[in-house]
Amino acid sequence: MQRAPNLRAARAQTDKRLHSVTLIWQFSIMRLPHLLIAAASAALPIPALAAAPPEQAVQSARSEEQRAPITILVSIDGFRPDYLDRGITPVLSQMAAEGVRASMIPSFPTKTFPNHNAVATGLRPDHNGIVGNNMVDPEDPKHSFWMGSQEPEWWDGADQIWITAEKAGIRTATQFWPGTTVKANGLYPTDWHQFSVDIGTRQRVDAIIDWARRPTENRPQFMILYIESVDSAGHDFGPFAPETDEEVAVVDSQIGRLRDALAEMGQPANIVIVSDHGMGPTSADRVIPLYRQLDGIGVPIEEGAYSSINPVPGKDAELSALLLEPHEHMECWPKAEIPARFEYGTHPRVPDYVCLAESGWIIRAKPPRPDAKQMKDGGTHGWDNLDPDMRATFIANGPAFRSGVTLPDFDNVDVNPLLREVLGLPQDRSLDGDLEPLGGALRQD
Ligand code: AMP
Ligand code: ZN
Ligand code: ZN
Repeated sequence: MQRAPNLRAARAQTDKRLHSVTLIWQFSIMRLPHLLIAAASAALPIPALAAAPPEQAVQSARSEEQRAPITILVSIDGFRPDYLDRGITPVLSQMAAEGVRASMIPSFPTKTFPNHNAVATGLRPDHNGIVGNNMVDPEDPKHSFWMGSQEPEWWDGADQIWITAEKAGIRTATQFWPGTTVKANGLYPTDWHQFSVDIGTRQRVDAIIDWARRPTENRPQFMILYIESVDSAGHDFGPFAPETDEEVAVVDSQIGRLRDALAEMGQPANIVIVSDHGMGPTSADRVIPLYRQLDGIGVPIEEGAYSSINPVPGKDAELSALLLEPHEHMECWPKAEIPARFEYGTHPRVPDYVCLAESGWIIRAKPPRPDAKQMKDGGTHGWDNLDPDMRATFIANGPAFRSGVTLPDFDNVDVNPLLREVLGLPQDRSLDGDLEPLGGALRQD
């Protein structure tokens, strides 16, 4: 296995080599406009600059030296890797080109909560306990989980990276990310905000900038930012629509604002940008109306690109007969027989049957509400995690990372070990994730 640098030392600012790398990076990349000004003033002295008291210049250099690199984890929900190649993401494409880029293989099911928790814990959904966006307690079917649930016990199957960091004394601050708004594993991040779709991307970015502006004593060393507007546009308009491109461009410019603000305050940052899954096109012509046959025998927990279903008590035989017969554009399994490559089906919270639609098709397992909008073409996710449309995005940029590297596709559970390395946390060999596929992302000096 490739060895990664010990960045704990850098955080403590005792590793002078990394410190000087940081400064070089800080000056060469983030301070480019300042360098240009400096070059211009060398050629043509500017009176105001020439007259600046040397103490002030020394003071400002000193305050920049005092800033150790922080780590920022960003999730752009539903961001396909090929959004970076549409000529609409100057900031993200540059960060990828000057850092590390890869397509990431999400975990099954390719939904938001299971994949955020897979990235955060380094464990597959089947092992971290967040097995769906919607879940039912196998001990008490009336007790259920949905995305707005605030009960911590659903999240207690494994420590999320902010929990591991907090336990190690690293101050964390989270501007949304599934699980950060509940007291998972007995802890909150030191700073966190209650989730609301009404808090827009600009305001979320402002929160990160404000935290970074804090004095060293209470500045978070690890921050997390979550943005869902690209996913929402992808659902509403599909992954190839101009409206989705527009939202991608908006988010790109907001990440640019974050990058520029950090540069302005002389704050070096290791920024890891991920998405939880991709986005595939849907059509009103590709719908499987399973609900028509489920009535009285099956209780759907999730529906869409995949569906998970429990039997109505006493109706297991009927449900099994219905689901396990061959279906066009859909295949179903009892949880114990889900193909091994999905790494799904052992957790007690996984419902008894799982049905997976052919890519592009949607399973309607719940009867449409009378007020439901006519289904139109758009996009979704939840299909096979090896479906190319489900590929997720990975970008890493900052002093800890190499420059100009494109890595082969890797599993999203490998991000947790990478973050551990960057944050100086010990590795945990019992995780599903592994540092090895990402070893090439880290600077070796
Ligand atoms: P999905 O249905 O898998 O596309 O989930 C994406 C949705 O999850 C987004 O529209 C967000 O509004 C929602 N979401 C993300 N984080 C949270 C959270 N912490 N609490 C509630 N909803 C969330
Ligand atoms: Zn998502
Ligand atoms: Zn979504």
